[in-house]
Amino acid sequence: MSNNLNDIEVFPWNKNFETGLALIDEQHKILISLLNKLAVSLVRGSALEINNIFDELTKYAEFHFETEEGIWAEYFDSDSWLASHQISHSTFLPKVIELKEKNVQKQKTEIIESIILFLIRWLAFHIMDNDKRMSLVVHNINKGLSIEEARNAADKKMSGSIRVLVEAVMAMYDSLSSRTLALMKESHERQKVELELNKANKKLRKANIRLETLAITDQLTGLYNRRHFNNIFAQELRRARRGKTPFTLIILDIDFFKKINDNYGHSEGDQILIRVSQKLKEICQRPGDFVFRLGGEEFGIIATNLDCQGTMEFAEIIRKGVENLKIPNKYSKVSQYLTVSIGTFTKEPVENDTVDSFMSVADSRLYKAKRLGRNQFVSGI
Ligand code: GH3
Ligand code: MG
Ligand code: MG
Repeated sequence: MSNNLNDIEVFPWNKNFETGLALIDEQHKILISLLNKLAVSLVRGSALEINNIFDELTKYAEFHFETEEGIWAEYFDSDSWLASHQISHSTFLPKVIELKEKNVQKQKTEIIESIILFLIRWLAFHIMDNDKRMSLVVHNINKGLSIEEARNAADKKMSGSIRVLVEAVMAMYDSLSSRTLALMKESHERQKVELELNKANKKLRKANIRLETLAITDQLTGLYNRRHFNNIFAQELRRARRGKTPFTLIILDIDFFKKINDNYGHSEGDQILIRVSQKLKEICQRPGDFVFRLGGEEFGIIATNLDCQGTMEFAEIIRKGVENLKIPNKYSKVSQYLTVSIGTFTKEPVENDTVDSFMSVADSRLYKAKRLGRNQFVSGI
């Protein structure tokens, strides 16, 4: 089955519908196309506005019946056939309106289904029987028969088995069409479900990514957290070991931070932690640089591709960077501004190097920097 519902004809035009009168056939084709539109809208569920369908049907009926009756009037001027055909036509619109009035109580799909059934019946009994019969008479009159002879000849041709045949064909048409409709509906529903599933999957993936991000992010500063430090550390240590490249751990701790909290308030302390974090992020821009909040007012930086000299220069850039923020800390014993103390360790890692071995060296250098008077870094050299 095609994926494009618009391409599907549930009710294909059939040679049996043809009266042989071009104008009438043209207009009957419009009815068939309306029928197909309805069928597609039934499958889609909501694509076509129900009121538009009724408007189109009304327009179709008014225009078509006028044309057709004009033709019949030429041939059956004072004949009872014309009158009874007009009566048949006059039932069409009231029926359509009756179906429309059910609109209020019924489901849209139910209404469309009932319109479709009504139109199929109209097709069978009005078009395939009445219209064809009359067009046969017209043909016969055009061939030179009297109206009486023309009518008898047409009745003969249409009688007996024709009506049974029409009913049989229409029954098949009904069941085939409803099966096609059911299949189309099912396929449409399946497509909708698949679409929903895809959407749900996307949402789930997004939610997972958010969860993963949350799990590795420090809530206050937005830096990577301690848990992620352990992961990245292990990963980058292995990489440096394989590549025989230097690996650097830098630990920094804000000097006299307790005094900030005590004198400016805890929330001011939080804001300062955020500002320092942003500065560190700004400094650590190279690929292979990672910044973490290890806890409290202590931060860790992992850098790859720095030798000992490079690390010292980098540590000084960090120290100066924070000092240049010029965050007042008048209770600090070493500066009027907020400062940091830094311990670094750079080494080409070997087999038995671990997070702990790196941490203990960097940590002891950090405390050496504190002892030596803070606002400075201590490195290996
Ligand atoms: P030092 O120079 O020796 O490092 O002194 P310090 O005052 O910075 O060090 P200490 O370890 O005595 O105090 C750290 C303070 O950091 C104490 C703690 O309340 C504060 N702190 C830890 N986490 C947070 C936080 O998330 N927000 C705020 N505002 N303060 C925090
Ligand atoms: Mg501190
Ligand atoms: Mg501390």
